[in-house]
Amino acid sequence: MTTISELRDQVRGEVLEPGDGGYDEHRQVHNGMHDRRPAVIVRCADTADVIAAVNHGRDDDLDVAVRGGGHSVPGFGTCDGGIVIDLSAMRYVRVDAARKTARAAGGATWGDFDHATHAHGLATTGGIISTTGVGGLTLGGGIGYLTRGFGLSCDNLVSADVVLADGRAVTASDYQHEDLFWALRGGGGNFGVVTSLEYQLHEVDTIVGGPLFYEVSDAAAVMQFFNEFITDAPEQLGMFFAWQIAPPLPFVPEDRHGDLFGALVMCWNGPPEGADGILRLVHDVAEVKAEHVGPAPYPALNCAFDGLVPKGLQHYWKADFVRDLTPEAIAAHVEHGQKTPVVNSTMHMYPINGATHRVAPGESAFAHRDMKYAAVIAGMWPDPAQNEANTTWVKDYYAAIHPHSGSEGGYINFMAGDDAGRVEANFGGNYGRLAEVKASYDPGNLFHLNQNILPAT
Ligand SMILES: Cc1cc2nc3c(=O)[nH]c(=O)nc-3n(C[C@H](O)[C@H](O)[C@H](O)COP(=O)(O)OP(=O)(O)OC[C@H]3O[C@@H](n4cnc5c(N)ncnc54)[C@H](O)[C@@H]3O)c2cc1C
Repeated sequence: MTTISELRDQVRGEVLEPGDGGYDEHRQVHNGMHDRRPAVIVRCADTADVIAAVNHGRDDDLDVAVRGGGHSVPGFGTCDGGIVIDLSAMRYVRVDAARKTARAAGGATWGDFDHATHAHGLATTGGIISTTGVGGLTLGGGIGYLTRGFGLSCDNLVSADVVLADGRAVTASDYQHEDLFWALRGGGGNFGVVTSLEYQLHEVDTIVGGPLFYEVSDAAAVMQFFNEFITDAPEQLGMFFAWQIAPPLPFVPEDRHGDLFGALVMCWNGPPEGADGILRLVHDVAEVKAEHVGPAPYPALNCAFDGLVPKGLQHYWKADFVRDLTPEAIAAHVEHGQKTPVVNSTMHMYPINGATHRVAPGESAFAHRDMKYAAVIAGMWPDPAQNEANTTWVKDYYAAIHPHSGSEGGYINFMAGDDAGRVEANFGGNYGRLAEVKASYDPGNLFHLNQNILPAT
């Protein structure tokens, strides 16, 4: 056992206990529902700090929460009475432009990453909000604008530096600790603390992208068009369907601020003129009531919606993988989507076809390679007094669409905290092998605050 004062001696970053300055700030995570009080927060400065924190958590038999960007909706990045290993001060990103790779520290956000890689006209698949952590997002899979072209974020992982439950620091790649590397690509935070992640980059510079808003009365036709078009659309196209209450932004007519729309959000990463045909098609489906599509630096699109999801909102989400959008599913979406309660809340239907389907289900931990979409009903609202009404909206919506999804599982990064019973289904046919790898690297289940894989016995 190490005392807190010994831990302080070992750590270069900050060690915060209740009552310390900064404790209250750093115990907060993105989802304002989680008002937890860890015994200690270690704001790691480097890998040696992570090793000290892991050893302290293990030897003192504490619950261990690992935090990168802090965006876990179930609040896995914090805990009551345990230790938080907070990586948010470890954010460097080093780009090797010649090799088209980048190495990001475990606490970097997608904003940090895109900023560094865009300077070289490069990027890789990340999330659609710039404040989300590269760590949690990649380890769970990683879905965003570039998924159809370049696969999931985890498909672009080249290697990872990991501090294991026994305090050893190892590198996992196709050539070292191959089983660990396999498990890290979709298995979530089950296997250790990832202090850095190396990615394959691609040429992505100025894209043509942004949202188009349609009347709710046209939403069924828009969803149907989207479902047909995205099946074989060029892979340079990222596009998702969303419900969106119009914020008071200049591109929305003033008399429509606050109205709900069905939206398509697009990101064309090809020759600019290639977007023209796509724009003609999306205009032919139904009248576009507001639009903000044009050439933009890729990082600008990747932070365009950040203002809708500030830190501290209440979050309750539910998710499914979806085989196809049937007419019955579309009817259920329209029925519940039109009750979207607040500007921050939405349902996003993200295609995961294209490059994602070219990776075999057993090639990495992310198993659901035959699914067309990852859908998420993302309930997000500011007022805790509205928790019941908003979670009910998410649950009712989910109950209506789930029977049409064609899948029991969902994307682990979109899952609610009360979905622990779905973990096996979320990992599909890979659960057994994941449990074996877990038994090799974390037999005591030190890293259990996550979509938890139990070590095989
Ligand atoms: C506003 C918002 C937008 C989102 N948009 C997208 C999106 O576009 N695409 C998408 O795929 N997902 C998206 N997500 C979901 C997101 O992928 C998950 O919430 C993910 O867990 C966030 O990672 P984080 O590092 O920010 O979170 P954290 O809460 O810090 O981490 C979540 C968990 O991931 C693990 N983890 C994180 N970092 C590490 C690390 N370095 N080493 C080991 N384990 C680690 C730990 O188990 C941790 O508890 C979004 C979430 C939110 C709230």
